Amino acid sequence: MNLIKNFIDGKFVESTKKFEKRSPLDNKVLALVSEADRAQVDAAVAAARSALTGPWGSLTVANRVDLLYGVANEINRRFEQFLEAECADTGKPMSLARHIDIPRGAANFKIFADVVKNVPSEFFEMETPDGRGALNYAVRSPIGVIAVICPWNLPLLLMTWKVGPALACGNTVVVKPSEETPQTATLLGEVMNQVGIPQGVYNVVHGFGPNSTGEFLTTHPGVNAITFTGETRTGAAIMKAAAEGARPVSLEMGGKNAAIIFADADFDAAVEGTLRSCFANCGQVCLGTERVYVERPIFDKFVAALKQGAEALKPGIPSDPATGIGPLISKEHQAKVLSYYHKAKEEGATLVTGGGVPTMPDALSDGCWVQPTIWTGLPDSAAVCREEVFGPCCHVAPFDSEDEVVRRTNDNVYGLATAIWTTDLQRAHRVARKIEVGIAWVNSWFLRDLRTPFGGAKQSGIGREGGVHSLEFYTELKNVCIKL
Ligand code: NAD
Repeated sequence: MNLIKNFIDGKFVESTKKFEKRSPLDNKVLALVSEADRAQVDAAVAAARSALTGPWGSLTVANRVDLLYGVANEINRRFEQFLEAECADTGKPMSLARHIDIPRGAANFKIFADVVKNVPSEFFEMETPDGRGALNYAVRSPIGVIAVICPWNLPLLLMTWKVGPALACGNTVVVKPSEETPQTATLLGEVMNQVGIPQGVYNVVHGFGPNSTGEFLTTHPGVNAITFTGETRTGAAIMKAAAEGARPVSLEMGGKNAAIIFADADFDAAVEGTLRSCFANCGQVCLGTERVYVERPIFDKFVAALKQGAEALKPGIPSDPATGIGPLISKEHQAKVLSYYHKAKEEGATLVTGGGVPTMPDALSDGCWVQPTIWTGLPDSAAVCREEVFGPCCHVAPFDSEDEVVRRTNDNVYGLATAIWTTDLQRAHRVARKIEVGIAWVNSWFLRDLRTPFGGAKQSGIGREGGVHSLEFYTELKNVCIKL
């Protein structure tokens, strides 16, 4: 049986307590994972603190940048190993992880190395009554020990999205991967040792949230800042933990994202983009679409095309190139998604396609499969139109005017992302400005330039990461004022 260990101070460390990691494909036990207790979390935080003043703390920016490029190159060299580990934990198609999860995992180290290498400092020259003046310039220093709390949907990608900038800025990290996806964060420990990242700079502690590793870490007084991606209610709990000691938090949380398709849109592109945004990664993408608003003249045609696309997604194992959709992450999540399928039926939805569990071959029949599902006919007040399901499903509703669709899109507690499909440039700009989200795509979805601000409005997040915006969170900015 594969045993997954914590990575503390450059060493792989077992815990007395272990938990099972099961495969989403067939629910069989894949590995036993060490659950870090309070003492191990203490050890990880202590290692991270002491690394701040060790060799890591005295590296030049150029040295740090070289090391982070080394990490990216080593991830790429071990590409297949990372791919296998990620797909084993999540069950996602290799065709997807090969193009998104693993390359982005590597790119996250390069992009932030480039950002810290190139970022200018701000400078203000001021006048003083004596006529001699003064000069002000700002310098950045690391915050210290950063706790990185991660979800399971894009494990390596979302973890390195935080570890990359944290390390580029000279901090040290203690990562708590999701209990559902322990492998790639652990593998990254081997990479860190191999490329010569000093001990204690990157630490991984496995376990759960409340009364377990996650809580021990976020409440730890030795942690200087907490960066989190996950559900909004978990983010709220973490914010409470961070209040003790008044520590900064960066929160990337849930969504209930809308796609808006105007009748003048490039129809095929809008169908293709919406299919991806609803069903990629089995609907388990924070930026994914669960509400689709289609302008009435093309509503029926759009629903028919979406249905055809959803029904063509073949469920299967990660290594099969014909696989169009994998399973959900766990039996627990499957039960949650199916409860929404049930609720939609109870609330009177018209089922366009799906709504249940696909028939799978015997060997996979215990897996966490659900059918891609499309509903119509519900009011915006229905549960599947308001709450985040985080599964491969969407409700499609017609609309008649721009003002109406903007109002309906904004009528939600979340505000993460939206995709607007139109060929009218004026309207694209107008609507993109009015939608209350952190990320508005026009005629695309999931097109990411890593230098741009990323984060959510309303209950989808606090703060922005990406490019120079990450520096705002991962560094302390100090003004130096010199009187001449
Ligand atoms: P989750 O909130 O259940 O768990 C996220 C992490 O927090 C896990 O590592 C978990 O163990 C830990 N955790 C849970 N309770 C904790 C506590 N009290 N203290 C400390 N740690 C705790 O989220 P999930 O189910 O893993 O991920 C799915 C959610 O993540 C969805 O809501 C999705 O929208 C969101 N998400 C958001 C983004 C974004 O960028 N905004 C990206 C991906 C996922």
